[in-house]
Amino acid sequence: MSKLAGKLDAKRQKDIKTLTEFVSIFCRENHKDAAKLPFSVKTVDLSSFLSLDQLQLCPNCHKLLTHGVVKLLMCPYDPKPMCKKCETHCYAPFYQQQIRQVMKFSGMYLIKHGRLDIAAHYFLK
Ligand code: SF4
Ligand SMILES: [Zn+2]
Repeated sequence: MSKLAGKLDAKRQKDIKTLTEFVSIFCRENHKDAAKLPFSVKTVDLSSFLSLDQLQLCPNCHKLLTHGVVKLLMCPYDPKPMCKKCETHCYAPFYQQQIRQVMKFSGMYLIKHGRLDIAAHYFLK
């Protein structure tokens, strides 16, 4: 088992699920014509709590989600604050800019489609 896998408590699993949902929506809606790859992260097995069968992402979104998952797993805070309110945001600047765009787009998408339950995890918690 990798060192990262040991940090997969329930809260972190939920954060990874939310992040995955947001990136997945963004990719599906904005990168319709791009070639898609199945998502996985080499250092940790996500399949025990994440349904990966249907998750296909373009190469850029694949990299972004991998970056986000690894950062969540390595987060030094306990309890972890919301990433968007974090004072020491750990994403590389390029990915930080991208993830803001993704969260804004997918958050609005989920609200428009009545999925306040998922959106709330990002906007309220
Ligand atoms: S942005 Fe902050 S809260 Fe989010 S994973 Fe990085 S260090 Fe943790
Ligand atoms: Zn994409």
